[in-house]
Amino acid sequence: MKTLYVKFIVITIGMMFISFLLAFVISNTYYQQKLKPYNDNKNTKVALDIAAFAESHPTISLTEYLDSITKVGYQICLVDTNGNRTFFGEPFRNKSLSISTQQDVINGHIFHGILQFPQGKFVTGFFANELNNTIGVPLKYNGETFALFIRPDIKFLFNEMHILFAWILGIAITLTIIMVVINTKYLVKPISNLTKATKSLANGNFNVELDVTRHDEIGELSHSFLRMARKLEQMDDMRKEFISNISHDIQSPLSNIKGYSSLLETDSISKEERSQYVSIINSEIKRLSTLTKQLLLLASLDRNEDIMKKKTFNLGLQLKKLVQNYQWAVSDKEIMLSYSLPDIEIIGDPSLLNTVWDNLLSNAIKYNKQNGSIEISIDKKEETVIVTFEDTGIGMNDPELERIFERFYRADKARTRTIEGTGLGLSIVKTIIDLHSGRINVRSNQNEGTTFIVELPIR
Ligand code: ADP
Repeated sequence: MKTLYVKFIVITIGMMFISFLLAFVISNTYYQQKLKPYNDNKNTKVALDIAAFAESHPTISLTEYLDSITKVGYQICLVDTNGNRTFFGEPFRNKSLSISTQQDVINGHIFHGILQFPQGKFVTGFFANELNNTIGVPLKYNGETFALFIRPDIKFLFNEMHILFAWILGIAITLTIIMVVINTKYLVKPISNLTKATKSLANGNFNVELDVTRHDEIGELSHSFLRMARKLEQMDDMRKEFISNISHDIQSPLSNIKGYSSLLETDSISKEERSQYVSIINSEIKRLSTLTKQLLLLASLDRNEDIMKKKTFNLGLQLKKLVQNYQWAVSDKEIMLSYSLPDIEIIGDPSLLNTVWDNLLSNAIKYNKQNGSIEISIDKKEETVIVTFEDTGIGMNDPELERIFERFYRADKARTRTIEGTGLGLSIVKTIIDLHSGRINVRSNQNEGTTFIVELPIR
């Protein structure tokens, strides 16, 4: 049984067969327990009536009378005192019957052959065309005693109605088998289609077509499969874009470094030019180093859980230390930095969360205007802590806002061209906050400023 299709058909037909078998066994038991005694009783009465009629009408011909009885559906055997047997009607298939039985009946006993007929597994006892399977009664005719053995003629039982029922049963079974074969195909075909689609997906072809009009479990499965295929396609696109972005972001500083280092080799350049080139090379190296660090961090964040080393720490204190580290950059741009950082203890990974605040604060400085301002605050709200970074920088428009958490996304190149960055910072921020089961929201107005609001569970 290789395919589901064959399995299904074999199992269904097997089940039908078992049901028939069970029904047969049950009806046989019913026949043995109830119908057999009833049948025996009924035929004994008929036999006694025949014998009584023959006895009370000595003038009629016994042979003709018995012959006429066979016409209404009986098989008859008449035995005289000498053991001579005369048969009337359809012949018996098996004519064996013990002499003692025949003698017993002549002596006045009734023979209940139908009741005593050995139990078969099936209802065959009813159909057995044997002399043993008869009712025997004594028959007195013109002073002579006979033994009369009768049983119903099975051929008579199979009348038009029975043939009709047999046809109905036969047609029903054939039609059921045909329908099982067709219906199974209808059921199994979508699964074969799904298998084909899976194979094509495995070969990198995401453009799979499936019938999703069905409203059953298979329709649902096809739906989910298509959703998965679209998601995989998106992820594949993202992966390709990611690789091309990384290649570009690594390639451009490398070619700058290559270009400026060959310039350094020329003798004709002035001292000022030399130091300018060295500083460009240094800043490109710094950019490459930041990029690789961020990529490594993202890769380990993507690999999940284990990277988190949670413990209780003072969030206010952590932010104050960070602010101190950025003092020089703040004063360099003459930014007014104010904060309200009360001591609040939370449970989280201090190192990863420091990366979050570092990114948000460095962005607030980077994308701020000369003489702008930054405000950092912590608020406790029930079981969460809310950290806000508000700046009066260049801000962003709505379409830009929607994309800032994407990897490598940098808003409006014209405005941020001169500002260093990789476009990875905020995607790292978002991933770390997600890992802490927190939330991040942004409000921004172009040329007015931006506010990042981070909400974290305290424990
Ligand atoms: P980048 O390395 O470019 O700073 P980020 O992922 O940190 O990368 O930020 C993505 C983009 O979001 C930035 O390029 C910038 O355009 C925009 N952005 C982030 N923070 C701010 C901010 N405080 N004010 C204005 N724009 C911002």
